Amino acid sequence: MDTVVEPARKALRLLILFVVALAWSRAAWAVEFAHGDATLEVYWFKGGLVVEAYPLPNEGYIQMARRLMAEPEVVAFNRNRPVRRGKAVAFPIALLRAELRGAALQALYPDDEMTERGWAHRVTDPLETLIQLTEAYTGSKARFRQLARYNGLSDADVLRIGTEIVVPLEWIPDELGLRPMAVKPPLALERDAENGRLFATYALKPNETLYSLLIRFTDRERAAEIRRMSGILLELNHLTRSSRVPAGRPLRIPIEWISEDYLVHKPRRAAPTGPRPAPPPVPPPKTALAGAPVHVIVDPGHGGRDVGAVYGSSRRGDRVYEHEVVYDIALRLMALLEAQGVNVHPTVRNLHQPEPVERLPLRNPGRAEVLVNPPYRIGRASVGVNLRVFLVDTLFRKLRAEGVPEENIVLVSIHGDALAPTLRGAMVYFPDYRLRAREFHPRGRVYRIRQEAVPAAIRFNQADIRGLQETSRAFAEHLVAGLRSQGVRISGRKPLRGYYYRNGQRTLPGILRYSRIPNSVLLEVANLNNPHDRRALLEGRTRQRIAAGIAEAVQRLRDEHRGEALARHGG
Ligand SMILES: [Zn+2]
Repeated sequence: MDTVVEPARKALRLLILFVVALAWSRAAWAVEFAHGDATLEVYWFKGGLVVEAYPLPNEGYIQMARRLMAEPEVVAFNRNRPVRRGKAVAFPIALLRAELRGAALQALYPDDEMTERGWAHRVTDPLETLIQLTEAYTGSKARFRQLARYNGLSDADVLRIGTEIVVPLEWIPDELGLRPMAVKPPLALERDAENGRLFATYALKPNETLYSLLIRFTDRERAAEIRRMSGILLELNHLTRSSRVPAGRPLRIPIEWISEDYLVHKPRRAAPTGPRPAPPPVPPPKTALAGAPVHVIVDPGHGGRDVGAVYGSSRRGDRVYEHEVVYDIALRLMALLEAQGVNVHPTVRNLHQPEPVERLPLRNPGRAEVLVNPPYRIGRASVGVNLRVFLVDTLFRKLRAEGVPEENIVLVSIHGDALAPTLRGAMVYFPDYRLRAREFHPRGRVYRIRQEAVPAAIRFNQADIRGLQETSRAFAEHLVAGLRSQGVRISGRKPLRGYYYRNGQRTLPGILRYSRIPNSVLLEVANLNNPHDRRALLEGRTRQRIAAGIAEAVQRLRDEHRGEALARHGG
């Protein structure tokens, strides 16, 4: 082994590591964790993960090895120096017992989690390498190439911070404690004898369907996603679309789909006791003057040729076009906000509709524009979204330059949902920091000729995005409270979400993915695919209530600032 170094050089190397880590602002220091009564440390060192443990009284290498690992190579790793009380002994992580390895990994990477494709690890340290991660998670280097392919990494030697590495659950030893140990009733756990994959099983009752099963046991709700997943379920259970799913026969559901609410994890024996590996700076305390003006960017989704979701039938009189419903709500909202003394900044204008209307649909596609310079008459949906991103960022920079405190700036994007037809109610999305892109830089003439797109790329400070998630989530809570108090129906499931699933991948709407505004939310006003929600939305008073709910959320934000200002001056 070549990992042996003189103590002085080791100290020097650690110092260099520390300086490198500081330069990256994502630190690579050791993280403490508890195992049984012992406190251990885990850190990256020379391209490998190392765990340090202290000997117990009268313990030598052999005894420590027996306690902590399978192979006695630790003697060589510590250069045959005798074990001394109070002096830590270092272990390459791959040599540790799986259980201890799992505890170290969970302490070092508390944000890792199970996703539909497997165990998702986010690269947080410049010293991480795929080969070491393969060894740490699967127990050997054998699957290194396979893991690179599974994650579509063309260059497996370079891992950028923020890259997501997903490890299929069946490659991870049970003892690591990363995958669920059991499922809660009425689900049962089953392991495929051939490939080791884990499944939850459930027998449908006579009145249940694959759709109702998926909605109940997974966190998925979008109609397209539920359709895709029920296709996979049929195949997995050797059923055809036409065959009726027999009641009483246990069906297999991939364990990766099951909602946290139905999973039983091994109790974490190793709660992190030390600093987290990369503590993100907490946003500074709010400095907004309670009297300073609030600015709300109002972004009605879609418009023009991009009509958004369309459901219902004109024959039954319940046809709804998403872009019409949300534009009408936006007009009502802007009037309410202006009456409250709030500054509003719309992203879109519909030349056909200057005022809110009582009756929808108007059926006037083709005449909405994004308010960039020069305006963009919405043709392609993706261009419409990208130009809004530029417009929102331009407004943000302009308001900041004018001295508006950033916590007084709000972005509300208004949409209508296309969920499975049985679901109802409003939901609010805020930007989960893990799903941010590093950079926004679409290319093409349509952008080059517009003022807002000229500064080109929008880049994020990686340290800020967690703070943006938290402030946006707090505003999302105000929004749900405001809507509820105005009598707007809220989703009975999880109305606040940091992402949704598309084709099995977690994703964020573009308008949230690139927003630097501390209060950024996307409101799905109702499920257009549900007949009751649809009929309600066609009534002007429902749309008015939704607008009033959003306006109330803005008022709640101002009250919160006022409360903080009072506390500061009073205390
Ligand atoms: Zn939409």
